[in-house]
Amino acid sequence: MTGRFAQVALPLPLATPYTYQIPDTLADRVAAGARVVVPVRGRELIGIVTALEVPAPTVTARDILATPDDEPALTPALLRTVEWMAGYYGAPLGLALKAALPAGLWGSSEVIVEVAAAGRVPGGTGAEVLRWLERKGGSASVGAIGRGMKRSVWDAVDRLARVGAVTLRIEPPDTGGGAVSDRVLALPADRPTLLERKALFGGTPRQRALYEALEQLGGTAPVEHLRTQLGFGTALMRALVARGLARIEEVERARDPFAGEPGTPPPDALSADQQAALAAIEALGPGEGALLFGITGSGKTFVYLEAIRRALEGGKGAIILVPEIGLTPQTVRRVRGMFGDDVAVLHSGLSDGERADAWRALRRGEKRVAVGARSAVFAPIPSLGVMVVDEEHEATYKNGETPRYHARDVAAVRARLEGARLVLGSATPSLESWAQVGERLRVVRLPERAGAGRLPAVSLVDLRTAPKVRGSGAIPWSEALDAAVGGVLARGEQGMLLLNRRGFASFLQCPECGDVPQCPHCSISLTVHQAPPALRCHYCAHEAPLAAACAKCGHAVQQMRGIGTQQLERWLAERFPAARLARMDLDTTSTRWAHHRILGAVERREVDLLIGTQMIAKGLDFPNVTLVGVVDADTALHLPDFRSAERTFQLIAQVAGRAGRGPEGGTVVVQTRQPEHHALRRAAAHDAERFLTEELAQRRSPAYPPAIGLVNLVISGREEVAVGRVAAEVAEWAAGLGQKHDLALTVLGPAPCPLARIQGRWRWHVALKGDGAVLGRVVRYAATRLAGSGEPRVTIDRDPVSLL
Ligand code: ADP
Ligand code: ZN
Repeated sequence: MTGRFAQVALPLPLATPYTYQIPDTLADRVAAGARVVVPVRGRELIGIVTALEVPAPTVTARDILATPDDEPALTPALLRTVEWMAGYYGAPLGLALKAALPAGLWGSSEVIVEVAAAGRVPGGTGAEVLRWLERKGGSASVGAIGRGMKRSVWDAVDRLARVGAVTLRIEPPDTGGGAVSDRVLALPADRPTLLERKALFGGTPRQRALYEALEQLGGTAPVEHLRTQLGFGTALMRALVARGLARIEEVERARDPFAGEPGTPPPDALSADQQAALAAIEALGPGEGALLFGITGSGKTFVYLEAIRRALEGGKGAIILVPEIGLTPQTVRRVRGMFGDDVAVLHSGLSDGERADAWRALRRGEKRVAVGARSAVFAPIPSLGVMVVDEEHEATYKNGETPRYHARDVAAVRARLEGARLVLGSATPSLESWAQVGERLRVVRLPERAGAGRLPAVSLVDLRTAPKVRGSGAIPWSEALDAAVGGVLARGEQGMLLLNRRGFASFLQCPECGDVPQCPHCSISLTVHQAPPALRCHYCAHEAPLAAACAKCGHAVQQMRGIGTQQLERWLAERFPAARLARMDLDTTSTRWAHHRILGAVERREVDLLIGTQMIAKGLDFPNVTLVGVVDADTALHLPDFRSAERTFQLIAQVAGRAGRGPEGGTVVVQTRQPEHHALRRAAAHDAERFLTEELAQRRSPAYPPAIGLVNLVISGREEVAVGRVAAEVAEWAAGLGQKHDLALTVLGPAPCPLARIQGRWRWHVALKGDGAVLGRVVRYAATRLAGSGEPRVTIDRDPVSLL
């Protein structure tokens, strides 16, 4: 049989796309990058056409059933970007496409079968289908017929359609904007006093714990969060409701917190530095890139917004990537202030339907600027002029599942393919980007703060010798930091305190036998929480009671080691009783827009001291913050990962950059036990460039990225022995491959991952080092030979951001 054929990638972990025949009626709509509905094993799925004019397959090809869109969902450049991503990261093309298109565009559609007026009536199942259909009034979906007849009828329907006994009509998947709701547990407005509580909760301490946890979360929290994150059972919640102490409510989710919020207007004029930076960006040729290396508060945002404004004037569109929408409301407001309705904000609060709608508006050119996290790199801007990656050093740009892409690197490839200008912005550039300066990136500097601010003075306090405040117990609280906080409060200014560890204490230890309670599913010690009291695993949310006595030796008293944000908050409340405190960490940001609420309160100056984990270090611009205190700078310095110094430098330099953005200036106090460490010394001196130079030298020997390419093959499974055995096989396979093809490849391992078990899965890894071309070949082989859905599982992580 003659006919034209197309290759269609399906959102499944398949190594190769399937081939389908293009019916004449659809010939003009089946194009590369187009969505099509195709039959697959008795179902109909949405796939993407990846190639046309392909040879006829050896088995009979089935017909493409429908083409839901007027024009291809993916532009040619976007399709090529995704193909690059699949190849580079060793991911199936279908899964790479799945990551690039919003979920709402993949929903399976319904094929409606209608009995045709006159058709040849076949025998067998076909006849049964026709009889069933006629009983139901002559039409039904394939799914409904299958359920009614209790078997798969797709083949029969297909044959009926071919002989003209039925006609098929496709009803596209429902991508309407139906809002989703959350079930929340809420407290009534009037709360019992402490005295009343004693009576109310006398015999029911768990109820009291739940009640107080809710109170801490602002009086309301999703039932799901209370259950999975905080470990409260539904029976407990019901008990509270039955006593009239709380109620269950349905609240509409997917509310867009940015809608109706005024945008921030741009400044009257760019500074001379900003203008020079803008000119340098405009001087880039199409497809070229710049590293906008500007100190914290130097006004990078308005430089790239102005570059985008000019691109829009030239009829082009733009994408702005931010690390996390919830943590960067100010950036979003500035983008909105500049471009108004031309902006689509792609945030996690959108329902699938709303996201699909935003996507379509961009695809049709009704909106020309997309702002969003990682996946916005795939926003379907038809004619892309500028691609911005704000805070390009952030690890959140790396996707945690297949395809394990890094949005910054995908952005660079897409910009080249589209002929768009690439702008990577950071005060603390990644070593990867720094190493590209002079090659693929041109460095553009902003050395001064914009507006009124000055870089704050940073003092390092040596916790080994510095005098501590009496009564601070386990809290590392030096007199220097204490005086600085006291001064800020006395002057009515604001302060931020960073402690990158949530919970109350890092772990519990028996002073007698030294035992530390561990998670039974993960190789990590359990973290102590106080609101509510429990031991909790930060990897799998496993919870155990906070027992008074040691489970091993029975010793009656347990010691808490290492402090967390909850304990710091409690200490500050004691030490500065008049101060208005707010805490921002994973435990207080359960509801979708909790970040927004907390940051809003800081902005309105309803908060004197903001306590938080690394969440508070990201791009915030509060002019009244005059003090930043880093309570313990060493939390990440000794993680067994080659990036631990880089991460520490970035965290400290970024959080320090939150101080002194207003006319009052600012100071930063960093407490550490290693004041001589180069990450801390350079952060204190605001000297990113020296840090980069020193760190780059350290990555040469032993070689680590960016001096060499790295692929981490992670082998995981439930059987410890099998995982170790497969890991050894993988290492042997890689070494053999290197020998056979004479590749300059270094194979490290197999070895257990530093986190040897997560959620009951044992983890081993094999690290491969080599240049890009060598690793490219290895990844290609690995993708076809190793990766798959079997157990133990082998995951390919190219350019990993963490080796833990
Ligand atoms: P960065 O992203 O480089 O840390 P921002 O873009 O947040 O810096 O800018 C820092 C502050 O300087 C913001 O409050 C911003 O409004 C202000 N600012 C930026 N450019 C100008 C300018 N040309 N004139 C006055 N203020 C400016
Ligand atoms: Zn766990």
